[in-house]
Amino acid sequence: MNPEPAPADVAVVGAGIIGLSVAMYLVTQGRSVLLIDRKGIAQETSAQNAGALAFSDILPLASPRILRQAPRWLLDPLGPLAIRPGYALRMLPWLMRFGLASRPSAYRASLQAQTKLMQLAAPAFHAMLARAKASHMIRQDGSLQVYESDAEFQSNLAGWQLRAEAGIAFEHVKGERLRELQPGLASSIVAGTFVPHWETVSDPFEVASALGRHVLQAGAAWRQAEVRSIAVREGGVELRLAQGDTVRAKQAVIATGAWSRQLAAQLGDAIPLDTERGYNTTLPPGAFDLKRQIIFGAHGFVVTPLSTGIRVGGAVELGGLKLPPNFERSAHMLGKAARLLPGLRTEGGTQWMGYRPSLPDSLPVIGHASASRQVVYAFGHGHLGLTQSAATGHLVAQLLAERTPSIALEAFRPDRFRWTGAPTPPEGFSEPSLRL
Ligand SMILES: Cc1cc2nc3c(=O)[nH]c(=O)nc-3n(C[C@H](O)[C@H](O)[C@H](O)COP(=O)(O)OP(=O)(O)OC[C@H]3O[C@@H](n4cnc5c(N)ncnc54)[C@H](O)[C@@H]3O)c2cc1C
Repeated sequence: MNPEPAPADVAVVGAGIIGLSVAMYLVTQGRSVLLIDRKGIAQETSAQNAGALAFSDILPLASPRILRQAPRWLLDPLGPLAIRPGYALRMLPWLMRFGLASRPSAYRASLQAQTKLMQLAAPAFHAMLARAKASHMIRQDGSLQVYESDAEFQSNLAGWQLRAEAGIAFEHVKGERLRELQPGLASSIVAGTFVPHWETVSDPFEVASALGRHVLQAGAAWRQAEVRSIAVREGGVELRLAQGDTVRAKQAVIATGAWSRQLAAQLGDAIPLDTERGYNTTLPPGAFDLKRQIIFGAHGFVVTPLSTGIRVGGAVELGGLKLPPNFERSAHMLGKAARLLPGLRTEGGTQWMGYRPSLPDSLPVIGHASASRQVVYAFGHGHLGLTQSAATGHLVAQLLAERTPSIALEAFRPDRFRWTGAPTPPEGFSEPSLRL
């Protein structure tokens, strides 16, 4: 009879960008890791996002201003924000919590937490890619947010002021400078904001694949399987797989993106995780001479130059994990992009929809399960999972080793919604871009 395989130190469930980053930090520390995913390396949301390392994107989506803007957006069924009628009722509790998290006081608290996480995110991401010998996959040409009227520009100034207070560099541009940063913009675009330290990646799937290769070469074990259930046992954790067998590990990390809610519920944690579905179209390389990522904040999408092509995407659709995609949204966005970038060649694109894992207060969950300190949750990064991936990996590795985390994790606690429906409160407001 074959002896049972020795349990891994840590089972990391989910091989999206978050699980991969966690695994990276763990193998670097010499821990034995078992990486498990039902689909493969980065086959879901982390595969085809907009590729932004949006370290300066510190403003939580849940904000007083978005509450004012959302009703107008919702009038356009293919606009930046939509709720699928078949999902509206199920989304109601999440939306109520989102409303609470958008109060000025709660918004200010989320902003502070997001800023701290972003300060950690940039150096951690650079270090992680250097370790994976993938630093060349980072593009350092900044981003350009553009505005179609002076009123739109003015309405964004409060948000830029908050970023200035956080030490983020940017330059408001008009006229020749604007068109030098991106030739070929439509004449309706009257102003922009250039963020020089904004970065993008060559292609999100390329980056995730490089991390996956590094982790496996460094000795992590791999299992393609769906984890059906998780239970805390003496000396560790037991995962039951869809194939019927079980896997044991001393510790486990749940990094299953938008699908994490059920596994957390099995450990007694009711976490109001839902999904903000997003859409894009990737056009062939050369579809436009794009100098850097362009952000059309008022329209809720971005256009990104990637090694694999030009990606036009964003928007938020609240429609859960089961309803089929509505690719009219991708087509509609592409039409808008062609109006704003008149030379854009729109033929030959590939459409995609992904499931952003989102908490109502726009912050991820990074923390221990209430049932056991041997299980750590790492999910709910919403619009910013790629950006915050390495910081999350770093923090999760610290939690598993019972070391003091580099930043306070109070705002990211899994149980923060338990009593009040929203984290702690203040004043301030700002721009609601649904950009990524
Ligand atoms: C249109 C769009 C644009 C975006 N643009 C950006 C951007 O520019 N910058 C940025 O920072 N972020 C962006 N994001 C957000 C980012 O893509 C996500 O936050 C991030 O990919 C989430 O990573 P994850 O690892 O948590 O989830 P995923 O990548 O979804 O990974 C979860 C993994 O868990 C696996 N899994 C699920 N359940 C189980 C189970 N029971 N057993 C085993 N495996 C399981 C899945 O197969 C999957 O591989 C964008 C998102 C979208 C939709």
